[in-house]
Formats: sequence, C-alpha cells, structure tokens
Amino acid sequence: MLKDRFGRVINYMRISVTDRCNLRCRYCMPEGIEWIPMEQILRYEEIAFICAQAAGLGIDRLKITGGEPLVRKDCAVLVSMLKKIPGIRQVTLTTNGVLLSDQLEGLLEAGLDAVNISLDTTDREAYREMTGTDALEQVMASIRKAAGRLPVKINCVAQQGGYENEPVRLAVLARDLPVDVRFIELMPVGAGRNLRSLPNPQVLRMIEEAYGRTAEDPESRGNGPAVYRRLEGFMGRIGFISAMHGKFCGECNRLRLTSTGELKPCLCYADSVGLREILRDNRAGKEERVREKIREAVRMKPRAHCFENPEDITENRRMAEIGG
Ligand code: SAM
Ligand code: SF4
Repeated sequence: MLKDRFGRVINYMRISVTDRCNLRCRYCMPEGIEWIPMEQILRYEEIAFICAQAAGLGIDRLKITGGEPLVRKDCAVLVSMLKKIPGIRQVTLTTNGVLLSDQLEGLLEAGLDAVNISLDTTDREAYREMTGTDALEQVMASIRKAAGRLPVKINCVAQQGGYENEPVRLAVLARDLPVDVRFIELMPVGAGRNLRSLPNPQVLRMIEEAYGRTAEDPESRGNGPAVYRRLEGFMGRIGFISAMHGKFCGECNRLRLTSTGELKPCLCYADSVGLREILRDNRAGKEERVREKIREAVRMKPRAHCFENPEDITENRRMAEIGG
C-alpha cells in the first residue's frame, strides 16, 4: 500500500496520453499552442510498464485522460493493456465525447469500466463559443449511445460570463438518461486563470429553484471528491466537485502521469519526478528504479493545494499537458 506523509492512501493514477485535442475549450486550450514533439510522448508500452510498477505498489484504479485521449490512435489498445495488469481493478476514461460514439464498441470490448464525458452546455451556439467547434451533436450522440452500456458521468465546468444558465439546462440529462451530471469548479490552472467559475453552492441553488429540493445521496461518497444529490424523478444523480469551495485535499488519493512521463504529486505545484529517462536508458533494474520514483512522488505530496492564493501556485503548464 502507498501512503503519503499525511497518512493518505494513494491508490489512483490519472494518465495523460496526449497534450493534443480536437477542441479549444476556452479555459483549457487557447489557440496557437505548440504541441509537444511525439518522441517526447510516452508510448503505450511505456505507460503500461509504469502502471504495472504502480500496481505492484498499490495503485489499483487508472484514469486515461489528456488532452483528448481519443485523438490518439488506438486508445482501446491501451485500455486492454492496462486492464491486463495484475492488481488493476478499474480503468476509466475522460473524454470530450466528440469521437466516443465511433470508438465506444472497441473501448467496451477492451474492458473500459466507466467514462466521464466533459460537456459544459447543451446549447449548440454556446458550445461552439465555449469550445471553438460545432460538435455538440456528436457529443450528444455519444452520450445517448454510452448511457446504460457503462457508467457515464457528465462533467460540467460551470462558468460566468453569460453561461450562468447552462448548468440548469445540463441537469436535464440526468433526468432523461441514466447518467450522473457533475459540476466542477474551475481551477486557476492554465487558461483557467483568466475566467470566473460559478461557485457550486450557487449552481445547487439554481438547480433547486428549477427542479425542486435535492436530497443527499446515501451513497454519496464514492472513490472521489464528488458529493452527490438526488432529485425526484431523475434517473441519474447531480454531483458537485468543489475544488475551490470545499477543499477535499484531506482525501486526495491520486498521482498524475503527464504525457511526457512526469509523475506529479499535485495539480497546483510544478514539482514532479521524471520517469521517461529511466524507461529509455538501457540500464538494468528499471522496475525497481521506476518504483522508487513512484514512492518519491508519493513522499512529495503536499498537504493541500493553494488555489485560493494564486500567487503561491507554481504550476504554469496547461491542464492538457498535465492531464486534467
Ligand atoms: N479532453 C478530455 C475532456 O475534456 O474530458 C480530457 C482532458 S480535460 C483537461 C479533463 C477535464 O479537465 C475536463 O472535464 C475539463 O473540463 C477539465 N478542466 C480543464 N481545465 C480546467 C480548469 N482550469 N479547471 C477545472 N477543470 C478543468
Ligand atoms: Fe480539449 Fe478537454 Fe481541454 Fe476541452 S478540456 S480543450 S476537450 S483537453
């Protein structure tokens, strides 16, 4: 079992498989960015090697993310490689959903356990403004196709600046489909530093005004930081991930592997340990050297993030590079 200095058990790793994306969400991916050269990006075999060492130490849940993981060729192949690692109990994916309906069957066959689909609006014009792309229909098709086939969570970053009503409109997806809709507070990372989030307490108030009183879900606390609530007549739940208004660092259980093979203990700080060099040199004992680096990253985990004091944030990279 991996335990950090503060007694937290670390059993979850998020893996960014690419810094590239087919959308340009305004809080994440500004225009005119330079992509990381492909030779610096970990190959699937390298990712699987790291995950096998992490599994040997106690990591049992993996999330594939990016950038947009489905723009990288054969993402399903990676899913099936990770699913075969002894000790890995769950492999899930976070996607913007644009390419999901085309790839869903392959991902299900590979054994994908659940999917998170990021969607901040159900209005076509607002979607185009917020993502720079007219792709809402593809995302909706993916949601309809995936719902009921595997657990689906819709993740919405609720924003100010004319988009205040989007959360209320999005919540109907949990009424009409067996999916959870979750609201995530914008974190001051990358381009997110320039935008204002809608605080989750306000989102909850607006949803209750529209659909009636919510009740806390008895199984509210799952594996992550989301708190879930139920609404009468809704198939799915409404969840809140309040990174800013409900600091949940005390329960943090994660490490992040960037697309270039850096292991990050916390989203807020630039500190990381590099694994790629170990993977690519020809010296013996790679397994143990990678394991020691994983232990080092766990030892480095800080007590808490400092998003409420932006001057203390040392991470300046984009969310898509780090692995959101
Ligand atoms: N492209 C995939 C997607 O959109 O789901 C995976 C990568 S994306 C970086 C993962 C999640 O991070 C998305 O749900 C996105 O909304 C969220 N995200 C990006 N920048 C953020 C920020 N500054 N604060 C909070 N969430 C952010
Ligand atoms: Fe792409 Fe996801 Fe970032 Fe949007 S949030 S630009 S979909 S990586």
